[in-house]
Amino acid sequence: MVKQEPPVKKNQTIELTFEDITHEGDGVGKIEGYPLFVPYALPGEKAQVKVIKVKKNFAFGKLLHIDQVSEDRVEPPCDVYIQCGGCQLQHMNYGMQLEMKRNQVKNVLRKIAHIDDIPVHPTIGMDDPWRYRNKVQIPVGHRDGELITGFYRKRTHEIIEGMDTCIITSEINDRMVEAVRRIADRLGISHYDEEKHRGVLRHIMVRTGQATEETMIVLVTRTEELPYADELVKELHETYPQIKSIVQNINKQRTNVILGRKTKLLWGEEYIYDTIGDIKFAISAKSFYQVNPPQTKKLYDKALEYADLSGGETVIDAYCGIGTISLFLAQKAKKVYGVEIVPEAISDAKENAKLNNIDNTEFVVGEAEKVMPWWTAQGLRPDVIVVDPPRKGCDEALLEAMITMKPKKIVYVSCNPSTLARDLKILEDGGYETKQVQPVDMFPQTNHVECVAEVVLKLSN
Ligand code: SAH
Repeated sequence: MVKQEPPVKKNQTIELTFEDITHEGDGVGKIEGYPLFVPYALPGEKAQVKVIKVKKNFAFGKLLHIDQVSEDRVEPPCDVYIQCGGCQLQHMNYGMQLEMKRNQVKNVLRKIAHIDDIPVHPTIGMDDPWRYRNKVQIPVGHRDGELITGFYRKRTHEIIEGMDTCIITSEINDRMVEAVRRIADRLGISHYDEEKHRGVLRHIMVRTGQATEETMIVLVTRTEELPYADELVKELHETYPQIKSIVQNINKQRTNVILGRKTKLLWGEEYIYDTIGDIKFAISAKSFYQVNPPQTKKLYDKALEYADLSGGETVIDAYCGIGTISLFLAQKAKKVYGVEIVPEAISDAKENAKLNNIDNTEFVVGEAEKVMPWWTAQGLRPDVIVVDPPRKGCDEALLEAMITMKPKKIVYVSCNPSTLARDLKILEDGGYETKQVQPVDMFPQTNHVECVAEVVLKLSN
């Protein structure tokens, strides 16, 4: 066989017309059928591109100049958009972002699961797709004798210069980070130096309940000791009455993981509260909590609509976290069983059930793929199963357990369309049918897409 050489060479400048976009948000253009991936290029654009990496079947390029500009291109409003890399889609208008996410779901369903005859609804977006994040975790560094805060420059651990705001983070949280940094700097609290593994303040984490406007500040330190803690705490809560909780988290390790094991309450309450719909949640420093509650509400309302409960059903919520979905379901079901691998999340789930006077839930710590077959052996026969797995999707044993349990309905909430499609294929082979899929935009400006699928047992089974 003749070995085909790629039609481009490294460092060559070429003119490229873009016809597509990857799920990461890179533009795709082809030369003699050979694809080039170019960040920040949009379909319909023609541009000068520098080839920067050549592989056998594809290459990466860098956008030099756009000769023909797409109507969907907008000026990214963030000053550090390119350096940061936390957002990937700020250069396209919001309508296009929503359409791109929907197409991505359609494409993977067709390619991976061979499903192309069901409705994939238009992505549910936000009216205002900015300032939505209720939590920020920002590294603390040092420049010209002053403490600085800001995200790391893409693929480095170097804090971006002059970054004083993140426009997908709520304004309150932005202001809180600034306040902590300013006061800590004045008091002379040192930043954590990653290379030397010295100094004190590693990260500032701020979380504010959107419905309640209660703020929790978490000061992540390398040391047990936080110098000037009393002064810092006093000034913070006296100046900003929405602060309800100030916590120190100690992380002594050389690690990229932000939070350490130990937390210490410095002032106020251990928890802040927030609500999604009618349900109230107590959130502690280490709890997982959705970062965009209004969109979460829309997602879970869809899940509830697909579950179609009338009050008499037994429901399983697998991968239940702190019970967010379980508590929604419990209002409409006879009994909800939740399973989750993180013990702290399960104790939060139990507390949250109590907090809301919900008494028809049962939460179990364990691997869903092991607990579900055990439930089956105990004779549990759910009418509906809801799953909300992490990005890698459901474990095969769990899919098998669901097929054995034969609920009349499965509602699949997913943060990764590719693994969703893979798992839907297995469920379809096991006697189920996918009815419809609803993408929801939980993370505007980024390339993440969340969706919920309605899956029903075929009548012939
Ligand atoms: N539905 C929840 C959380 C979904 S995130 C909410 O909205 O709050 C996925 C969850 O799956 C995480 O909480 C993670 O800890 C849990 N998880 C991961 N692997 C698991 C497994 N094998 N068994 C059970 N839970 C698991």
